[in-house]
Amino acid sequence: MNNAYWKTKTLAEMDKAEWESICDGCGLCCLTKLQDEDTDEIVYTRIVCKYSDLATGQCSDYANRSVNVPTCVPLTRERVAEFDWLPETCGYRILNRGDQLADWHPLNSGKPASVSQAGVGLLAIPVVVDTGDLDYEDFLIDKPC
Ligand code: SF4
Ligand code: SF4
Repeated sequence: MNNAYWKTKTLAEMDKAEWESICDGCGLCCLTKLQDEDTDEIVYTRIVCKYSDLATGQCSDYANRSVNVPTCVPLTRERVAEFDWLPETCGYRILNRGDQLADWHPLNSGKPASVSQAGVGLLAIPVVVDTGDLDYEDFLIDKPC
């Protein structure tokens, strides 16, 4: 990887490894979201996918995520502009809007733990693991950031 490529390259210019490293591991995209049928508004819940590793914020079976959870949306560079439902802190959203990654992003800090230390991610939310029988309406939260 180029030195500090995240400060100089656009998302479209990054190779696969560089693209993957923009994810800070916050895990917030793995919270269940509801969409209003009339307004299309996306509302977050604090229910997290059962494949989410709460200790790391990472998917516990990333290679098979689309099989395990058919509704798991792959984040692709072609569609990144559409993903306004992601938290404002998400590295893909930050770079897509032309801003720089925060100091707490692991690429800047050199430490994955700096994400939760900054109060970002699943560890900052009283999450409930999806058991398949929860009433999502009971777990609505403001969009995390
Ligand atoms: S919200 Fe963005 S930065 Fe956080 S885990 Fe998902 S893709 Fe990665
Ligand atoms: S399958 Fe993995 S990547 Fe997809 S929502 Fe669940 S934990 Fe997140």
